[in-house]
Amino acid sequence: MGENGPSPGVFFLALMLVGFLAVAAWEHLRPWQAASPQLGGRWATNFGLWVCTHVSGYAIVPVAGIVTAWCLSATPWQGLQAVGSPLWLQAVLLFVALDAARWASHAAMHRWAWLWRIHRVHHSDVAFDVTVGVRFHPAEALLYACVTAALVASLGVNLWAVLAAEAVFILHNLFCHANARLPARAERWLSPWMVTPDLHRVHHAEEPALYNLNFGTVLSVWDRLAGTLRRVEGADHAALGFGVQALDSSWTRSLPQLLVLPLRAERKTAPQPQNTA
Ligand SMILES: [Zn+2]
Ligand SMILES: [Zn+2]
Repeated sequence: MGENGPSPGVFFLALMLVGFLAVAAWEHLRPWQAASPQLGGRWATNFGLWVCTHVSGYAIVPVAGIVTAWCLSATPWQGLQAVGSPLWLQAVLLFVALDAARWASHAAMHRWAWLWRIHRVHHSDVAFDVTVGVRFHPAEALLYACVTAALVASLGVNLWAVLAAEAVFILHNLFCHANARLPARAERWLSPWMVTPDLHRVHHAEEPALYNLNFGTVLSVWDRLAGTLRRVEGADHAALGFGVQALDSSWTRSLPQLLVLPLRAERKTAPQPQNTA
């Protein structure tokens, strides 16, 4: 990205908008489920959160990698570049390493209570569509930015390799949140290797037994290796509900409430039935 070229931030924003429009068109043409009744309010809330997160952090997930690669070029440590790795190999190695690190970070967010408080903002939407792909709390974006910067620095890759790898993550994130389904044959072929909307939809299910599965970002192989990959088929898939049961639904609808959601404690138990005796 020279002085006359677009900045990485503008490139990622343009990619994001093109990807969003493509997935929204796919949802319109082949919807998995009728659009949720609160569509307008959800889109406004999710986009509001995206603007906050983009301004304060989301943009720095991909840009953190670019800035790290720039800084790296001024240091003696050149990592993969020092051993003459071609650009495509640097991009592939970075992509696989980032995807594995994001799988581990995602699993950690479900395991550790204080990280779950941040990540549950993403899970708290009661519907599943492409707008959920931009519903992340700024604190989660900052955590991913740190992981990305650490990996780019330790591998020592060229900034173009970072750009290529992050472009895949941005487009796939929108794709896997689509309220749409792949043709059955494509789903069978792809899902053992890559996270599809059907696989990620299971991860957004409101039942804890399901949302603690399918942690993959782009590749589903890490879940296969860890024994956490699960497909839910047929009527069970059609009956999936979304959201976090332990959260009061009034806490998850508006932008200000989502921003402070990490500070709220979950209900310990479901509401008890009234004793009418
Ligand atoms: Zn999750
Ligand atoms: Zn998701």
